[in-house]
Amino acid sequence: MSGRVYLVGAGPGDPGLLTLRAAGLIAVAEFIAIDALVSPEIVALIPGTTEVVYVGKRSSHHTLPQSEINKLLIAEAEKGKRVVRLKGGDPFVFGRGGEEAQELVAAGIAVEVVPGISSSIAGPAYAGIPVTHRDHSTSLTIVTGHESDGSTGINWPALAQLDGTIVFLMGFANLRFIVEQLTANGMPRVRAVAVISNATRPEQRTVTGTLGTIETRVAEAGLTPPALIVVGDVVRLRDTLDWFEGVERHTATAQASPSLVP
Ligand code: SAH
Repeated sequence: MSGRVYLVGAGPGDPGLLTLRAAGLIAVAEFIAIDALVSPEIVALIPGTTEVVYVGKRSSHHTLPQSEINKLLIAEAEKGKRVVRLKGGDPFVFGRGGEEAQELVAAGIAVEVVPGISSSIAGPAYAGIPVTHRDHSTSLTIVTGHESDGSTGINWPALAQLDGTIVFLMGFANLRFIVEQLTANGMPRVRAVAVISNATRPEQRTVTGTLGTIETRVAEAGLTPPALIVVGDVVRLRDTLDWFEGVERHTATAQASPSLVP
């Protein structure tokens, strides 16, 4: 009898943001395949007796090609195991979860999807940036920033016209290209931008500026990936709503006792 593959979102890093379903499956899985983006605190929840494989990718350093990952998941499920494929954030938000699910279904494997809290929403939230706000933004657009050459067909002229919130994932290395495309297509250079590194983790750091200044500020701050980019007026709300980093810097209990920083 064939087992089942659970495509599980691990959230952005803080183990408190794992769903109950995800935590339950991590506890009972017989085989777990993990992405590089899954935080060490969550990996630590896996029982010592569970078989674990790191198939994750960081930028271009794939430890296993996607086709091999798919084959591995299928092979383990066909042995009758309960297989958990643990992915950062939500499995269907730029995690190739959709592609993996298609392959599994095509191979006749039963699939269950466990949504996770995406870094695209939790990252801004932990930086004190509401992705929508009645007075500032009526839309949220999540875009891959992976493109550095026009190859993925992003409609930059359309994006540059948006005055809602735009979140770029996988765009940290292409920050200059993203800024150039938005401004060249007419977005004002004074539009607010935040870059959030290691969102929801103790080492979270956020740098804010405008399309005109963000690149220099990020370089000066020496931010490291994983990082996401938020473009839009809502970024300015961080000035009053930075509840996590402001507290985290001063106490070890920020998650237990969040408060507004004046
Ligand atoms: N499925 C994931 C996204 C996968 S794409 C999700 O829903 O969050 C990988 C990109 O997500 C990274 O390049 C980075 O831009 C972003 N990312 C994921 N975790 C992050 C974190 N803790 N802090 C900042 N960015 C993160």
